[in-house]
Amino acid sequence: LLSYDLVLRGGTVIDGTGAPRAAADVAVSGGRIAAIGRLDGARAECEIDAAGLVVAPGFIDAHTHDDRLLLESPDMAPKASQGVTTVVTGNCGISLAPLVAADVPAPLDLIGDGGWYRFPTFRAYREECEARPAALNAAALVGHSTLRVGTMATLDRPATPAEIGAMRGKLAEALAAGAIGLSTGTFYPPARAATADEIVAVGEPLAAAGGLYCTHMRDEGDRIVEALDETFAIGSRLGVPVVVSHHKLAGRRNHGRSAETLAILAERMRRQPVCLDCYPYRASSTMLSAERVGQAERVIVTWSKTRPDFAGRDLADVAKSLGLGLEAAAEAIRPAGAIYFVMDEADVRRILAFPETMIGSDGLPHDARPHPRLWGTFPRVLGHYCRDERLFGLEEAVRKMTGLPAARFGLAGRGVVAVGAAADLCLFDPATIADAATFDDPDRPATGIAATIVSGRVVWRNGAPTGERPGRFLRREVTASPAAG
Ligand SMILES: [Zn+2]
Repeated sequence: LLSYDLVLRGGTVIDGTGAPRAAADVAVSGGRIAAIGRLDGARAECEIDAAGLVVAPGFIDAHTHDDRLLLESPDMAPKASQGVTTVVTGNCGISLAPLVAADVPAPLDLIGDGGWYRFPTFRAYREECEARPAALNAAALVGHSTLRVGTMATLDRPATPAEIGAMRGKLAEALAAGAIGLSTGTFYPPARAATADEIVAVGEPLAAAGGLYCTHMRDEGDRIVEALDETFAIGSRLGVPVVVSHHKLAGRRNHGRSAETLAILAERMRRQPVCLDCYPYRASSTMLSAERVGQAERVIVTWSKTRPDFAGRDLADVAKSLGLGLEAAAEAIRPAGAIYFVMDEADVRRILAFPETMIGSDGLPHDARPHPRLWGTFPRVLGHYCRDERLFGLEEAVRKMTGLPAARFGLAGRGVVAVGAAADLCLFDPATIADAATFDDPDRPATGIAATIVSGRVVWRNGAPTGERPGRFLRREVTASPAAG
């Protein structure tokens, strides 16, 4: 009799490649998938009855701000509860490392106050993560705004050659220590003055290290085509793959323009490696800034340092109670965070359904009243958009959150259910899976996730963390395939 560590019995395998589902048992040994098929005679230390459940690769959250959550809340409940087994950290130009700073400007404060920015090198951050592992795996980007804040005395100008050299050195250190690439957030004040030339000069070590370039672009509204062009040019000059983060069209004037931007992206993908991620909601969330308020139909305060009592309230109510206009109220309660209803549902659907779109939550785990995407993203795609709205089939939905991001981020041996692959798995009920988090009640775990398994160890089961901490730091492994990207 063959003996395994774990057997998942009687489930329906959806393997992450887009291939049709198939009934099969799945056996795990030594953290890897050891066998798939009829395994009636197999014995295991642990068996899970998967009858009625889908056995899928664990979901890869392609866009997170979980740098600090990995250390602070290692059970990673907001993500483990959704079936996520790997988080990509350090997005939008902001990463916890490398930076030592007592005080940080917005939006760096979204992931930590000064006390959390205590890693002089990326290696120091990785070593602390490895010394106290989390439940889930992480693949980490280095933030260009973090490099700027740690290198430049003033941020409202392009970097000097000496500053570029210093930032380039910090990026090279990080890549050598296991970072998978560079992120930028030229939309945000700390990097708004950075030119494409600066980013290309700082990012010079990426190509040799096999890193990639992810960007919260300079503009997601009126000037989005110019922002896409800048992004493609930077990727092309760097000679590395590009990830367009949380693709969206913000502001009523731009509603419907995803037809235009997706055509531009599809055309560009024939010439250089480009991909994108998206979250399944029509509201965005980031720092509160007066200049964005006019673009939104509704604004909800997610946190405020000066007025914590306003978290969860509509900015319109806050403005009324302060006797101010919306923009003055936003100024009055900063530093703060907000949810902005700025997108069109038809754009969200078109972008989600685009074949190259990966799923990324963009959740903000330290907000007092976070956007529901933090706890709801993956079950919302599988339940609401796939099952209920029939936007795409279940195999395609799973591919967008597993095989596709594993290939694009170079997470070799993950994102698929295949013999020899890492046993990162999610068991869910396709009939009941649903997001429960709402804008009014944003911290509710999703329903329908039976188990989340990382490297063969069950980290979440029946609505609760198990206490297992098998997470590891993943490196990017680039294959020689010419189709890569
Ligand atoms: Zn962003």
